[in-house]
Amino acid sequence: MSILENQSRDFRIQIEPIFEMLTHKKKELKRVEWEALVRKTEQGILNSPNQYLVDIPGNLDLIIHYLFNQFLNQFDVIIIGGGQSGLAVGYYLRRTGLSFIILDQESEPSGSWQHMWQSLHLFSPAQWSSLPGIIMKGGSDYYPTRDEAIEYIKNYENKYNLPVKRPMKVLRVQRERGLFVVETPGDVYYSKALVSATGSYGNPFIPDVPGVKQFKGKVIHSSQYYSVEEFKNMRVAIVGEGNSGAQILAEVSEVSRTVWITSKEPRFLADNIDGRYLFDAASQVYEAKLKGKTYHPPSLGDIVMVPAVKEARERGVLQASLRPFQNLSPNSLIWNDGHTETVDAVIFCTGFKPSLDHLSALNVLNSDGRVSTEGTRATNLENLSLVGYGNWTGFASATLIGVGRSAKQTVEEIVRQLDAKAHGNNG
Ligand SMILES: Cc1cc2nc3c(=O)[nH]c(=O)nc-3n(C[C@H](O)[C@H](O)[C@H](O)COP(=O)(O)OP(=O)(O)OC[C@H]3O[C@@H](n4cnc5c(N)ncnc54)[C@H](O)[C@@H]3O)c2cc1C
Repeated sequence: MSILENQSRDFRIQIEPIFEMLTHKKKELKRVEWEALVRKTEQGILNSPNQYLVDIPGNLDLIIHYLFNQFLNQFDVIIIGGGQSGLAVGYYLRRTGLSFIILDQESEPSGSWQHMWQSLHLFSPAQWSSLPGIIMKGGSDYYPTRDEAIEYIKNYENKYNLPVKRPMKVLRVQRERGLFVVETPGDVYYSKALVSATGSYGNPFIPDVPGVKQFKGKVIHSSQYYSVEEFKNMRVAIVGEGNSGAQILAEVSEVSRTVWITSKEPRFLADNIDGRYLFDAASQVYEAKLKGKTYHPPSLGDIVMVPAVKEARERGVLQASLRPFQNLSPNSLIWNDGHTETVDAVIFCTGFKPSLDHLSALNVLNSDGRVSTEGTRATNLENLSLVGYGNWTGFASATLIGVGRSAKQTVEEIVRQLDAKAHGNNG
């Protein structure tokens, strides 16, 4: 009964019997009857539970209506995914008076940060790693650790009392009678608007290289990398020219012999460019858009020279880079010019694709696994938004500092759309 927990004792004494009555009623009803009730509520036939519950004091109507909707699992907005993106949307929704819930499949807060490798340091300094409302401690020259990011996001969720239900994996979303029907292993949830904020971490991308299955060594994706311990004294190939590749290379090269394989020349940002640049570039993209212009920012995939990567440069390990190999034999990588490298392990730091399987029944997924969007709004299904996946849902939206702007715009859009619908003007 978490909804009652923060209420005064007198209020609880008043409301608890009603709450129990509703619970009892829900258990009593068969699923079909319950769903019929949902339909009546949607159609506005059942505006107040008073129509079927007796002896309820009239002045509690509003509260009961709210509780009733909670029991029906019916909300104005459902957010799928309780990482930083889902929370940032929740932060702005709290101010609107719209009812909402966040469904997250993890057992603990902080989204995918809790699964990242132990020694990870953010590439964005603390001040530029902040969600709307709370500045991350540490200032503009400190690169927070993974654990500090986890702690920050946990505190964020608690401070704003965001209604996250976990662990709650969304299996499938469908659309029926103008509502989103969100299926989980237990309950079914209903909403007028849906925000998908499921990130990409659950969908790692490994290129299809012939021979991977025959290779006798260890093959992992960076999302499975946890610490250098398991690579001690090995010969390790690190594949990928992004920040993950450079950072994993920096530390694995301290305990093993490494070869760095990139698909193009790695691009290193100047030593004095840090996460602040993400913020500046995001602002410039936004301001250009307001003026009807386009600004093409520098790539977010360029490598930020965090201390560990600078140190690896001093040791000379960043120099070695070979173009993609053609295939794997049981113990080596083979290039088409005949060059081979014997290795014990390959770590693919080759990125991610958006985790959007739960939307497949809505028929909005394109062949590249994305949804067509304008900003964060899906262009081929009304009231669906996608937040935090990457530049295609707003420049730098897959970063702590960048997602705030996308979240704000998303909530403004949802309010506009639901308002228009309520006034019969959905144009
Ligand atoms: C190695 C690495 C380093 C990074 N470093 C930085 C950095 O220094 N600074 C920075 O700003 N950004 C950084 N990022 C980028 C970004 O901040 C993170 O990727 C961030 O975790 C994205 O947040 P999110 O909320 O969009 O996704 P996630 O954190 O992945 O959260 C999505 C949530 O949705 C849940 N979910 C997924 N599918 C379902 C489902 N079907 N039902 C219910 N729940 C579901 C997931 O379990 C998860 O809890 C880094 C990313 C990586 C991979």
